[in-house]
Amino acid sequence: MVSFMKVCVVGAGVAGLAAARELLREGHDVTVMEQSGGVGGQWLYDPATDAGDPLGTAGAHSSIYASLRLNSPREVIGFSDFPFYPKNDRGGDARRFPRHGEFLRYIRDFCDAFGLMDAVRLNTRVAHVGMAPRSDDGGFLGWEVRCAKQGEGNEVVTTEEVFDAIVVAVGQFTQPRIPTINGMDKWSRRQLHSHSYRVPDSFHGEVVVIVGCHESGKDIALDLREVVREVHISVKPMAGTISPGMSKAVSKHPNLHLHPEIDCLCDDGRVVFVDGSGVVADAIIYCTGYDYSFPFLDTAGLVTVDDNRVGPLFEHTFPPALAPWLSFVGVPRMVILPRFYEMQARWVAQVLSGRMALPPVEEMLRTVEEYNRAREAAGVPKRLTHAFGLDLELCDEFGEKRCGFPRLEDWKKELILSSITSLLDDAESWRDDYLDSDIVLEGLRSQGWLTGRSPHDKDDDGAAGERAPKPQTHS
Ligand SMILES: Cc1cc2nc3c(=O)[nH]c(=O)nc-3n(C[C@H](O)[C@H](O)[C@H](O)COP(=O)(O)OP(=O)(O)OC[C@H]3O[C@@H](n4cnc5c(N)ncnc54)[C@H](O)[C@@H]3O)c2cc1C
Repeated sequence: MVSFMKVCVVGAGVAGLAAARELLREGHDVTVMEQSGGVGGQWLYDPATDAGDPLGTAGAHSSIYASLRLNSPREVIGFSDFPFYPKNDRGGDARRFPRHGEFLRYIRDFCDAFGLMDAVRLNTRVAHVGMAPRSDDGGFLGWEVRCAKQGEGNEVVTTEEVFDAIVVAVGQFTQPRIPTINGMDKWSRRQLHSHSYRVPDSFHGEVVVIVGCHESGKDIALDLREVVREVHISVKPMAGTISPGMSKAVSKHPNLHLHPEIDCLCDDGRVVFVDGSGVVADAIIYCTGYDYSFPFLDTAGLVTVDDNRVGPLFEHTFPPALAPWLSFVGVPRMVILPRFYEMQARWVAQVLSGRMALPPVEEMLRTVEEYNRAREAAGVPKRLTHAFGLDLELCDEFGEKRCGFPRLEDWKKELILSSITSLLDDAESWRDDYLDSDIVLEGLRSQGWLTGRSPHDKDDDGAAGERAPKPQTHS
């Protein structure tokens, strides 16, 4: 029998919006609580981070810096049935890897196209989610959700409501993960996490040490390069961490330097590396990743976060003891977004309505344990429990098995893989210097990316259609 639930989705980033759409499609009664004044989550750029601790969240949700351009091709990063075609208007960014604001516009268009804003409560922070008292026979009676809503005069109003089910979609790139380094508590110069980096201006003429050289580390080092005196990038381990493209950038720009791990920070401003070399620095920026954090969620210990393992979570989505009444959309890492979150969301919606069944609790727990054991045996650190390593086949299998989600087209897979190759080969201009293979060109052609017209927008003159980006083809 199909049933409809009163569901609270926490967060209106792409994961929460994917959840809202799938739940509404399935017929559920959906409310999305969003603490910010708009939808988009990470993509809602927030210039202010100065209030509070620059090694902590500093009161901001988004970690996006001003210069950020997408690192996923626009043909792939859209929702599965709402392509991220460039708009035929002024002020947009039609490039394949556009600036962050272009993706935010797209997310807003997605909400409008699917009428999602009626379900979203903005400026509404979920302060506490806990289980409602059980019935006399021990039956589950839902979740009590306490929210703090900012009123018009900035006063805060607290509300309480009961929901049948909660979908947690609060993202994973807000709570800085900070390494422990000898002397860091006494080092009196500027230390911040990449979460609090926005623009290079305040680093003018300085010597800056960047810790970590993954996407944010690389981007920020290159962003700073033109205004600072020197950028010193510290990586652990050196071998295998620095891409050929970043090595090329370092050899090209005399003010970029590479170092191994930091050994200690000294009172006189020196940063000493494990090979004995050192540099007197004005600032250190930790580009060291993020921790999952769900401070509002009280599950009486049934869901915990341990070294970035959220668990136990059956298929990274349902905590067995509380399924299906509690679910998480957006925990997997290194997957294609928002596509993977759409799969999770569709599965959650169908399980809640009763159209899909979950295995018994013991079996789900056993599956989680087996998965964790297999990963550990393969040498994968616990903190990468939810990382899919961009294994596109594994992502397809997940979608097919859990909710019959269509597989990603081959040309898109090839486009993703060729983008990664370019990113590794050339840290500076990879986003603009690409040549599409024949299979990608054929895919672009067959799905309207090269014809310049698509059905879901209007030109300035009111005619339907958008302009596709100018392709860069083999000469
Ligand atoms: C610097 C950076 C660059 C990135 N670049 C790319 C890229 O190029 N391509 C790509 O695919 N991905 C990229 N990502 C990953 C990006 O985060 C995801 O694409 C996507 O935005 C994650 O969506 P989400 O909905 O899971 O989380 P978020 O976007 O973080 O959304 C979570 C939402 O939950 C809300 N929220 C949190 N707590 C509460 C609460 N208690 N009450 C109410 N609301 C709450 C937040 O305000 C937010 O709106 C990047 C991330 C970062 C940090």
